[in-house]
Amino acid sequence: MNVLLVYPQYPDSFWSFKHVMRFIAKKASVPPLGLITVSAMLPATWKKKLVDMNVSALQPRDLLWADYVFISAMSIQKESVDKVIELCLKYEVKIIAGGPLFTQEYSNYPQIDHFILNEAEITLPMFLKDLDDGILPERIYETDEFADITLTPVPDYQLLSAKDYVTMNIQVSRGCPFSCDFCEITSLLGHKVRMKNTSQIIAELEILFNLNWRGPVFIVDDNFIGNKNKVKNDLLPAMKEWMQTHNNPFTFNIQSSINLADDEELMSLMAETGFTSTFVGIETPDEKSLHECNKGQNKNRDLLHCVKKIQHAGLQVSGGFIVGFDTDTSSVFQKQIDFIQQSGIVSAMVGLLNAPKNTTLYNRLKAENRLTAQSSGNNTDLSINFVPVMDHQELLDGYQKIIQNIYATKPYYKRIRRFLLNYRQIQTRQKKMKFSYLSSFFKSLFIIGIVNKGRSEYWKLLIWTLFRRPTLLKDALTFAVYGYHFRTVYGLMDKNSYS
Ligand code: SF4
Repeated sequence: MNVLLVYPQYPDSFWSFKHVMRFIAKKASVPPLGLITVSAMLPATWKKKLVDMNVSALQPRDLLWADYVFISAMSIQKESVDKVIELCLKYEVKIIAGGPLFTQEYSNYPQIDHFILNEAEITLPMFLKDLDDGILPERIYETDEFADITLTPVPDYQLLSAKDYVTMNIQVSRGCPFSCDFCEITSLLGHKVRMKNTSQIIAELEILFNLNWRGPVFIVDDNFIGNKNKVKNDLLPAMKEWMQTHNNPFTFNIQSSINLADDEELMSLMAETGFTSTFVGIETPDEKSLHECNKGQNKNRDLLHCVKKIQHAGLQVSGGFIVGFDTDTSSVFQKQIDFIQQSGIVSAMVGLLNAPKNTTLYNRLKAENRLTAQSSGNNTDLSINFVPVMDHQELLDGYQKIIQNIYATKPYYKRIRRFLLNYRQIQTRQKKMKFSYLSSFFKSLFIIGIVNKGRSEYWKLLIWTLFRRPTLLKDALTFAVYGYHFRTVYGLMDKNSYS
């Protein structure tokens, strides 16, 4: 059996980091972890090939070679999914689809032959058994159970062309104990946090190490500290020891809930292990809106202080922010701007509220007859899939005001300086100067420091960092490059003077 694993292309969005790639000679930010995990569950005798369309084009010869195309996607990849389906139909190759997009919207894809929905650890063996027994496979394999991920195999990392990616990724756990009403994670993966065994994680690190990967590793868990106890007392000590015995080859980036700030011991252990950044869902500084979306873990706390505590513990914080809650008033836009600027959260992902399918919010809006479409999954395309309480145009104008205020050159660079002042660098990390860093530095010098219109801010940052935080120069330059991406994505390249 020849199996072609296809990962559709992402559009140009906040998370694609597409405009960063020209500085660092990479093609995509993260590899398709779901597909390479599925690959590891397929029979060892099958021949497998991966095409990540974010890295290389899908060629007719690949489709002609394949008996089956396995496709996995999220909502944001819909446009590219349609193109893949069209090509598969043209070359008459059967399609098997899975992942969040199809689990939630399989009825929109009548052209697909088979669906392996929910968690593949459960549904893929059902499909394989039917095939093995010579039974004509069903069209849909689904389950309402959650898999035991201590049995999940090590992903087929060797299928990747690792040099094309900014970071490798691993999964430690699935599920989240919280109940934010707009979030699809709990409907897809449940509230009970299921963790892999520590030995599995160490085996995955070992494989990445043996494949000669050095550098960032993104832990894809939606909330890495969902099971704080096990993370703190079992996983992190083992990871720390492994990192030390291997001369600290990786840095780790995670997503976590804000209650990370409550545990100084945990944060120290993470920083000592090589964790360098976390994405936190802040959502809004407005208590009423936090209450509305059931984000209890963010309520009744000084969110600004929490962010600074995490930064001071040695972890950069990027954050998610939302506008469009029913309780939002016209003052929310300035509140968001002020919060983001004061926090030193350089990468602030601000989105309009949307209701992904099967979330509590989706069900409420459906009952209120306010849904207008399916969520696009793209936080930068100005879409909103329900009728908001606030006037729609006022909401769009307010959202754009936030974007223009936080990503215009001056406030953006000011925020970088704020972060560099808040941040406490952990000295134990390996800081070797590589040729690739120098090459990226000279590219940024030319593109942002000479060609770009906001060049004076770039030079100001460079000089300021050299005098005030010289050991953080690499971080300052990285943020300057991110800024180039954000301003390009948001169409702000020539706008320089918002206040
Ligand atoms: S904390 Fe994050 S992952 Fe958990 S339910 Fe809320 S938004 Fe979803």
